[in-house]
Amino acid sequence: MLIQENVALAPLTTMGVGGPARYFVEATTVDEVREAARYTESHKLSLFVLGGGSNLIVSDRGWPGLVLKVGILGINHRHVHGSAYFDVGAGEDWDGFVTAAVAHNCSGIECLSGIPGSVGGTPVQNVGAYGQEVAETIDSLVAFDLKTGEEQEFEKGDCGFSYRTSIFNTNQRGRYVILRVTFALKHGWEPRIAYADLQKYFANSKQTPTLPEVREAVRQIRASKSMLITQGDEDARSAGSFFKNPVLSPEGFAELKRRASAKGLEIPSYPALDTQHKVSAAWLVEHSGFSKGYSKGRVGISRKHALAIVNRGGATAADILALKDEIQQRVQEAWGIGLEIEPVLVG
Ligand SMILES: Cc1cc2nc3c(=O)[nH]c(=O)nc-3n(C[C@H](O)[C@H](O)[C@H](O)COP(=O)(O)OP(=O)(O)OC[C@H]3O[C@@H](n4cnc5c(N)ncnc54)[C@H](O)[C@@H]3O)c2cc1C
Repeated sequence: MLIQENVALAPLTTMGVGGPARYFVEATTVDEVREAARYTESHKLSLFVLGGGSNLIVSDRGWPGLVLKVGILGINHRHVHGSAYFDVGAGEDWDGFVTAAVAHNCSGIECLSGIPGSVGGTPVQNVGAYGQEVAETIDSLVAFDLKTGEEQEFEKGDCGFSYRTSIFNTNQRGRYVILRVTFALKHGWEPRIAYADLQKYFANSKQTPTLPEVREAVRQIRASKSMLITQGDEDARSAGSFFKNPVLSPEGFAELKRRASAKGLEIPSYPALDTQHKVSAAWLVEHSGFSKGYSKGRVGISRKHALAIVNRGGATAADILALKDEIQQRVQEAWGIGLEIEPVLVG
């Protein structure tokens, strides 16, 4: 296992900001993960687990301890009673796995096409898009417990999944290195076309779209919003959506509606959001004095997506965080709502 020193982290993230890792190692086996854990313990270093770097803002100081990049590969699949089980190494590229599942005619994750990052990163914030969440298809996972030094299996029910959360980014944050994830997909089932953008895309189709067609549609819709990492697209130099959609109490929701109507505005209504009094963070941002394409020096808001803060070239983490603070403050002032951020702040 090669431990490197002073490794630049910015190129290992989609946002492209931040300082170096004091120590850095890529683990391709469970034994290497164990070895890295022992190293941090014996050298009294803090450990940060890196996947594909697509949901991170690394501080300009970098990470003072050891960054462990999970590079465990492998996709194996088996069929049991109509379900197709895929055991996937945490270091596999997520979209590569979606491609493999679709090629095997297995549904359940087709709407999550084009999300950047690793397979091991997906349970952490229970990634979701276009009407699917990864928790719907996770059967179980195996993680290395940095506290006990043992491998531990988690059934789906043990993971505490809900909107953009799991135990891995809340009460057990930083304790586990996810090694492998098992997905239970449906073989030969029809794809899910629940989300408005997808329904619109297929509005003129006479037949039910195939899985590859849905995957392609999702990727095209994502590309049109710069939510697909595409070479040369400056608006894709982001960490995806920077803010979560706030979930309000019934009273909070009523108060928001009251404030909106006092300004002659109406809160947009989406079936997927309304049931939980979830409000579109994008709408709040756009009605607090910001617009797509807003620029502030080297950072800005994507020209195609109001929730993506982008590095327009040469930005620092401090630049990104200053714009984040400004947006949060103005939304708070205008609507009385504190927006929570989605990316992880490192260092
Ligand atoms: C253009 C763009 C579009 C995006 N679209 C979406 C979207 O539609 N929906 C959505 O939900 N997200 C989206 N994201 C966010 C991001 O892609 C996902 O959260 C992704 O799953 C992060 O995985 P990663 O491997 O890159 O994790 P990283 O960014 O490397 O890490 C994120 C967190 O997960 C932890 N982690 C990563 N791997 C492991 C592991 N093996 N074990 C333990 N902890 C681990 C890290 O420690 C960190 O806390 C988008 C991001 C970008 C840049």
